[in-house]
Amino acid sequence: MSGPKTHSWINDLNVYITGKSKVGDFKNPHKLSANESALGPSPMAMEAYKKAASELHRYPDPTYNELRTTLAKKYDIEPEQILCGVGSDEILKLACRAYLKPGDEALYVAHSFSMYPIAIKSVGGIAIEVKDVDYTADIDNIIKAITDKTRIIFIANPNNPTGTYLSVNEIERLWQNVPEHILLVLDAAYAEFVSNDDYDAGIELAGRASNVLMTRTFSKLYGLAALRLGWGYACKEISKTLDKIRDPFNVPSSAQVAGVAALNDLDFQKKATSFNQKWRTWLERELSALGLMAIPSATNFILFGFENKNKSAKDANDFLTQRGYILRYYSGQGLENFLRLTVGTEKENKEIIKLLKEFLEI
Ligand SMILES: *Cc1c(COP(=O)(O)O)cnc(C)c1O
Repeated sequence: MSGPKTHSWINDLNVYITGKSKVGDFKNPHKLSANESALGPSPMAMEAYKKAASELHRYPDPTYNELRTTLAKKYDIEPEQILCGVGSDEILKLACRAYLKPGDEALYVAHSFSMYPIAIKSVGGIAIEVKDVDYTADIDNIIKAITDKTRIIFIANPNNPTGTYLSVNEIERLWQNVPEHILLVLDAAYAEFVSNDDYDAGIELAGRASNVLMTRTFSKLYGLAALRLGWGYACKEISKTLDKIRDPFNVPSSAQVAGVAALNDLDFQKKATSFNQKWRTWLERELSALGLMAIPSATNFILFGFENKNKSAKDANDFLTQRGYILRYYSGQGLENFLRLTVGTEKENKEIIKLLKEFLEI
């Protein structure tokens, strides 16, 4: 073969495995595998999206001005330091493009978001996995893993797929120990769900530090995963740098208007957070009562293990998919005996527990 040859690091790249959405013959399986909103999209966002149809012939506002100013007002931050992207995934990738060259190292925590090694390797960076402790990022392990080649550290806070989080003090301690030339990325995709007093998504730190980028998404609490909308916040220098390399029209008008509407839809936000709190607590309790190891979660999903059982997560997964319920099963990442369950509707949550009981023959 004599066609064009891509870089060795692109040849070696594993593609991201998405949460399954189809099984067997089920027309509408219960998809609890991708941490999507149990209550559907924000109704105000749906309205705004429909209205945007008549303007489909226009290029979107390249500066997504209204979206930025709405975000800036909500969080009391500078609109110039906000960057929006095609999902927060795009912002993570832009950060890699801007701050990693082939051979540079970037750190990410074991049992965390599998997009990080992909984003790192896509620009020739070396992805270094750092051991966690009790399914939680460990600050000391991260600090120890820093070398003179390290350029980025990725932390999902709260973490996916474990659901655990780091307190604002722990993040501060990490930052105090990270040299200024290393970018610290705080991926707060689930921040809207966290109710713990000692948590901060990273707004305060990103606002005063010269090396912190916080990323957020509209895919989870706001229920707009299909629109691919995320945003980031960092000091002027970093946001300007990332802004330079994004596509000029990266965020579609439909996503811009729906995003603004979702931010203004306080009713939906309140409903979604209290619904999640209620059912996550219920699911954690029920899973534990079945003798399953449910890791305490700050998010809209729960990772639970079959360690104390003489049955495997794989068999449970097969049992559930045959009945039209799709959870996230990990064939790798050292989580082979775990399943991740997204909080679903009331009916789905109750049904999942019923099915697990049946599977465990309790
Ligand atoms: C879902 C998720 C994201 C982001 O998603 P987008 O849809 O690209 O905004 C980012 N980080 C983590 C940890 C996630 O779970």
